[in-house]
Amino acid sequence: MSKGPGSQRPDSQRPGAAPGRHFLQIPGPTNVPDRVLRAMDYPTMDHRGPAFADVGGRALEGMKSIFKTAGRVVIYPASGTGAWEAALVNTLSPGDKVLMYETGHFASLWNKLAQRLGLEPEFIAGDWRHGADPEAIEERLRADGGHAIKAVCVVHNETSTGSVTQVPEIRRAIDAAGHPALLMVDTISSLASLDYCHDEWGVDVTVAGSQKGLMLPPGLSFNAVSEKALVASQSAGLPRAYWSWDEMAEPNATGYFPYTPATNLLYGLVEAIDMLHEEGLDNVFARHQRHGEAARRAVRAWGLEVLCLEPRHYSGSLTAVLVPEGHSADAFRKTTLENFNMSLGNGLSKIADKVFRIGHLGDFNDLMLMGTLSGVEMGLELSGMPYRRGGVQAALDYLCGKEQASASAA
Ligand SMILES: *Cc1c(COP(=O)(O)O)cnc(C)c1O
Repeated sequence: MSKGPGSQRPDSQRPGAAPGRHFLQIPGPTNVPDRVLRAMDYPTMDHRGPAFADVGGRALEGMKSIFKTAGRVVIYPASGTGAWEAALVNTLSPGDKVLMYETGHFASLWNKLAQRLGLEPEFIAGDWRHGADPEAIEERLRADGGHAIKAVCVVHNETSTGSVTQVPEIRRAIDAAGHPALLMVDTISSLASLDYCHDEWGVDVTVAGSQKGLMLPPGLSFNAVSEKALVASQSAGLPRAYWSWDEMAEPNATGYFPYTPATNLLYGLVEAIDMLHEEGLDNVFARHQRHGEAARRAVRAWGLEVLCLEPRHYSGSLTAVLVPEGHSADAFRKTTLENFNMSLGNGLSKIADKVFRIGHLGDFNDLMLMGTLSGVEMGLELSGMPYRRGGVQAALDYLCGKEQASASAA
């Protein structure tokens, strides 16, 4: 057994202790494709040397094609939380009102972060089973005749619940109210998995991270920035240093960064962007929708409940599953980890132990989905969870295009 850092990993993930590949089916971090791993397995270069500009430039340009923007993209060596903070501190001033919507755990964390920064976020309550409600947002903005609200912040794909907010509807709600607030969107678990158009949808700041749809390890995060957000940043009063868009602008123009970037993650990013375009973004999005539908069919066939209640808000990135009253989702997840070397996502805060989450985003295909769903079905059996057999079959039938035939035969 190696004495390298690998020997510190938990037993269930250590090669040798459990043969075959670990199934990392949490909704991020996701599986990193071998091509991306190989691209990062390269000597770290001088980040101020001549060769670096090509990598930096390709990463910055490439991300524009993923955000679908002609505007600026900023890349931080940070987790997604850093990019949340960057979006707020670059555009807002102490005491500014911000309208946020409680879609779930991640919206709640962004709300708390805004409070800690000295903003005054107003949080529209949600039931954790839907995306953000455009009517509630429009109504609140209409009541704000003095335009005290400076930004509307929503999470595109709420990773704790598997509910998607329809961003164009939120844009229309802001416009219908005739309100000048900035629109900020967290796409940390949707970018490069679910369709997203920063420019066309009129978003001012988009927040993203490397470790979900972008198929990289954790460690990079992003802001895509509109002209209107850049103008707001000129008069914004919150202190900012590390996160400052201004400091980034000049070096970024020639492919460089004001401080040491995460060089090897950028090699991986350039490779991941190439892979996404080779597959075609529309094909990537269709693949995620198809896997989401197959997973939901399995869940229903098992007699379990999909947490998201609104079909228009179903997520192609992940499926959150409610377990029957009186049963423990965490005990079930322990069973799948111990028996099948598969990690599933847990229920967060309010829904802890009531929900498990199946991640089906990133570098993922039909057989990986079927392996995952088989592990879930075997785990349901072994953990004594009440369920019906046949979820795996329902997903197979859908993937093979046989769902119609089997429905009419039944
Ligand atoms: C993962 C995630 C975050 C948090 O990102 P970190 O990289 O853990 O800081 C925030 N929002 C959403 C929607 C996420 O999925």
